[in-house]
Amino acid sequence: MSKAETILERMNQKRPILGDGGYLLELERRGWVDSGSGREKVGTGKGSGQFTPEVAIEHPDALRELHREFLKAGSEVLQALTFFGTREKLNRAGYGQQTEAINAAAVRIAREVAGDNAHVAGSVSRTQLFEREGRSAAGHVRELLNEQVLLLKNAGVDFLIMETFFHLEEMLIGLDCARSTGLPIVATMTFRPKLTECSDGHSPAECAKAMVGAGAHAVGANCEQEPDRMLGILREMRNSVSVPIAAQPAAFGTTDAIPCFTRLPEFPDGMEAIQLPRSSFERFGSVAVSEGIQFVGGCCGCNAAYIRAAAQGLTASNSNSR
Ligand SMILES: [Zn+2]
Repeated sequence: MSKAETILERMNQKRPILGDGGYLLELERRGWVDSGSGREKVGTGKGSGQFTPEVAIEHPDALRELHREFLKAGSEVLQALTFFGTREKLNRAGYGQQTEAINAAAVRIAREVAGDNAHVAGSVSRTQLFEREGRSAAGHVRELLNEQVLLLKNAGVDFLIMETFFHLEEMLIGLDCARSTGLPIVATMTFRPKLTECSDGHSPAECAKAMVGAGAHAVGANCEQEPDRMLGILREMRNSVSVPIAAQPAAFGTTDAIPCFTRLPEFPDGMEAIQLPRSSFERFGSVAVSEGIQFVGGCCGCNAAYIRAAAQGLTASNSNSR
């Protein structure tokens, strides 16, 4: 990566940019993040402090090591672990008072590892309040997301990744907040339980167009599905907008009946049984160019081995097309 090259310039090159992803689940597997399992029903959005990012202040070395692994695997973007880092979500986990410290530490650690070798993204996710309280939460959601994007901007991220939003309405609020920072924005919706529409009933094409209209510089999908199953969503988006397409698939195998891993009985404690081979990401990397995907990352279940495989796929397809 050249120092002066912005993420927008990089995403508009023909060669796709390689991301990272899957921090919370990988760190849970290593024992540093709390899944909430055994305490409450996980995956409903109704729980308390599941999969929150306090590891950034509690066990910074564990987070630093995972960033180092992704960088070594070829990631050109390191996402600061600020997912589920809004004050209300952290409050539920008992870390609300540390909201500023957690967001700042996560960005600092990512930046230390990235140096001049990777871009640093702030990760901003859904608040879960649309799932918990419905649309009446919109005002509170705006306050929370506004606070977090400002914390991330002040901490010095290069750009924002808005990800794992189930409701387009909440994503559009998030994009409104994100736009006010002036930072480049990658926005990826998550489709659960259907592949054909998000939680508030919008198709992938409608989501893509709305996100571009709200100021996203790249749009796409993340989480819940493996690469092969996510491709249909990505193609629909590719055909409806002209900005770069971003993909951060999960590394778990889902089924036709239940195309989202957090609804499978293996979530959250039996996911080793649905873990995909890394060749699924190598294949994904190898079709990225022909599928018109400019940002190739990962989400839950992904770790450095998957990113290394995606990098190999990208390299192989590059040399084939020469
Ligand atoms: Zn995920």
